[in-house]
Amino acid sequence: GNEVNQYVYKFSEGDASMRDLLGGKGAGVAEMTKLGMPVPEGFTITTSACVRYFDDGGKIDEDIKSQIFDALSELQESLGKRLGDPENPLLVSVRSGARVSMPGMMDTILNLGLNRDVVEALGARTGNPRWAWDSYRRFVQMYSDVVMGLDKSRFERAIDDLKRERGVESDTDLTAEDLEGLTDLFLDEYKRQVGRSFPADPVEQLMEAVKAVFRSWNNPRAIYFRRMNSIPDDWGTAVTVQRMVFGNMSADSGTGVAFSRNPSTGVKGLFGEYLMNAQGEDVVSGVRTPQPISHLKDQNPEVFDQFTHIVDKLELHYRDMQDMEFTIEEGKLYMLQTRNGKRTPQAAFRIASDLVDEGILTQEDAVCSIDPKYVTALLHPQFDADALAQGTLLGAGLPTSPGAASGRVVFTAEDAVEWTKRGEQVILVRLDTTPEDIVGMNYAQGVLTARGGMTSHAAVVARGIGRCCVSGVSGIEFSEDAEGNVVGCAIGENVVHEGDWISLDGNTGKVYAGRIATVPASISGAFGRVMGWADRFRRLEVRANADTPRDAAQAREFGAEGIGLVRTEHMFFQEDRITAIREMIVAANEQERRRALDKLLPMQRSDFEALYEAMEGRSVTVRLIDPPLHEFIPKTPEAVAELAAQTGHDTAYIENVVDELREVNPMMGHRGCRLAITYPQIARMQAQAVVEAAINVKRRHPLWSVSPEIMVPLVVNRCELDYIKQQIDQTVGEILAHASDVTMVCQIGTMIETPRAAIRADEIAADAEFFSFGTNDLTQMTFGFSRDDAASFLDDYYDKHILDADPFMHLDRKGVGFLISRAAELGRRTRPNLRLGVCGEHGGDPESIAFCEELGLDYVSCSPYRVPGARLAAAQAVL
Ligand code: PEP
Ligand code: MG
Repeated sequence: GNEVNQYVYKFSEGDASMRDLLGGKGAGVAEMTKLGMPVPEGFTITTSACVRYFDDGGKIDEDIKSQIFDALSELQESLGKRLGDPENPLLVSVRSGARVSMPGMMDTILNLGLNRDVVEALGARTGNPRWAWDSYRRFVQMYSDVVMGLDKSRFERAIDDLKRERGVESDTDLTAEDLEGLTDLFLDEYKRQVGRSFPADPVEQLMEAVKAVFRSWNNPRAIYFRRMNSIPDDWGTAVTVQRMVFGNMSADSGTGVAFSRNPSTGVKGLFGEYLMNAQGEDVVSGVRTPQPISHLKDQNPEVFDQFTHIVDKLELHYRDMQDMEFTIEEGKLYMLQTRNGKRTPQAAFRIASDLVDEGILTQEDAVCSIDPKYVTALLHPQFDADALAQGTLLGAGLPTSPGAASGRVVFTAEDAVEWTKRGEQVILVRLDTTPEDIVGMNYAQGVLTARGGMTSHAAVVARGIGRCCVSGVSGIEFSEDAEGNVVGCAIGENVVHEGDWISLDGNTGKVYAGRIATVPASISGAFGRVMGWADRFRRLEVRANADTPRDAAQAREFGAEGIGLVRTEHMFFQEDRITAIREMIVAANEQERRRALDKLLPMQRSDFEALYEAMEGRSVTVRLIDPPLHEFIPKTPEAVAELAAQTGHDTAYIENVVDELREVNPMMGHRGCRLAITYPQIARMQAQAVVEAAINVKRRHPLWSVSPEIMVPLVVNRCELDYIKQQIDQTVGEILAHASDVTMVCQIGTMIETPRAAIRADEIAADAEFFSFGTNDLTQMTFGFSRDDAASFLDDYYDKHILDADPFMHLDRKGVGFLISRAAELGRRTRPNLRLGVCGEHGGDPESIAFCEELGLDYVSCSPYRVPGARLAAAQAVL
């Protein structure tokens, strides 16, 4: 059609509601303009113009161009100034601004519109040639960098050289002549590198700058930032063109940034810095030391008063802490930007809580104001920000489990245990981890793996036990000694030896050399208060995945309402148990197997009792053993010999069993309920342990409602479940018949973690009282992506826009989500009161929790440390 799209908006035409179109910055200045605040005039080119620019192959469409020129004419008219007019020149800034703030990720150009004629006239007319040349120098430098991508360091070096030559410390000590000479150097350098002269035509400058800002949407750091924050690649950035005001014009000019509350602590009160006789980048770049904002009160009380008044008004207007940029030009205040300020997790809770007390937010608003991603970080120690800034970066991977950890490098789980026992603090560095490493992981301060993604073993376990973990750090090369023991590794260019100190930041995935100081987790009153509100609003129940009494106690402390998944195999890896399970695996006959299981029974029973005790009568869902048995068997010749000695078999026999258990594709092999089909005795032993534990605890605490829940993993059809259910029912029936003093119902449910189980959920529900979606395996099997290896190729999928998020991190709604939704519907058709939950890692992911809410599931279950975030996300999902 011939409908005309509006691609350019004057500030006076926009408002805060137009963020998607005008970007955060454009919407911010428009809103401040509407509120009558002193904002330099300008216009914003929309994000859809940016999208068009890319669609049109890197060209600005004629229609958009003419809208820009119209807006420019209007601006010139209203100001009585023109771009490039030496008599009365208009100078503008050209700034990026996406829908959501991506601080520092994209580009900006200041002082646009200058050329030699304009600079000379401007210098003469204002009597301030120093300022005029300083502005031009800055513009040439920024334009060369942002528009042409020239190497910045040459320009920086030229400034340093000149300062040294003149014997001055600060840029402000350079004279007009110095700056003119410097600008000439820059212009020559530009010509040398580009092959033609720096553009003198301000309109050409403007159009090139607009295009460059559009392009900066796709610079590598912006792409990386979007991936980290799940921001779609196709939003584009808006471009805001604004009349320049000059903080570097005179001694009574200046520029600064301020927050309306302290972004680290959340305490109310103006917080920020400014610098007189300077432009924006001077404040952040650290070339000169800025003053605290409170000094402005003495320096210019009128401007300070006006500013504080505006800040109060903006906070009230946006109902949130504001982060603002301002400039003072010859004593007159201008607001350049306002946005909701970034803050630490601690500050987020404090601010939300205070804003409710101040009557600015409702409790619902307060709950929604906090990013659940923040919450986990709050529960772990953090690196001291100053110490971190000094640290040497070695490499980066996926931040698979939050926290901050420093320690000396060890390469085996055994060393992690041994070193820690003798008082060392260690970081376990591995190619990847296996369930056997859990003890070592538990002893270590943190875990670093070269391979693996968000749901790899290392990640799941580390989150479960609250260990900081970084996974999938590419470019790690291990070096071995003659015996094949790892003795060191190269991370990129740096070599790390056993015993060297390194530090892991589980919030960013970064790995640093040396030991970086940490500050402890600080959970404030505001945290408990806001979480209490969240609990009142949410509908979804939040449980934890926990395998030990310690995890369970932690989960309770974090507000879990039960345990949604006990991975019983994790209990088997403890020292005394691993031998018993090995005996069972290598049993030559039924009798030997029975004997081994008889050893395991009391251990499991006491494990379960401890879990019931820790949960004080809340639900505990115990899953039958899940991994392939080869994960438990000895791997070294010494361990094989030891097992042979223990069981009275010879080593050849043991080695033979080990060989037979080896599978080409173990994750799709003899695991899950398939084990119970082959060895029903194991399922019966586990069921017995669960129910006897429940009875014992019930006898000790008659008021608790202890009702055992047993869960069968990896089911594919009804007959499978039917067979195992019979085994369990029979065992449980016999035990309960002998415990007439307690009344107890044992529920049997299943995990839905194979596509077939989801598709035939109506049949399966006939035998299951609950479904727990194991979305880790369900994702693995729906995509056919190995959960332990996918990280190695997923980056290519993101780069080529084939996927925009890790399906192991955020539930794939259309594929895996479709299966869950169908299974829920089919299951409830057979059994209307079927309980439905998710216990894969997605159960702790806010986006996935929102999806669970949409489907009307009953609960989510996640690692203890993710429970508070899940409670918050569950509340936000209904608000
Ligand atoms: C799952 O597959 O989602 C699950 C919870 O089981 P596991 O991670 O132990 O395979
Ligand atoms: Mg599973």
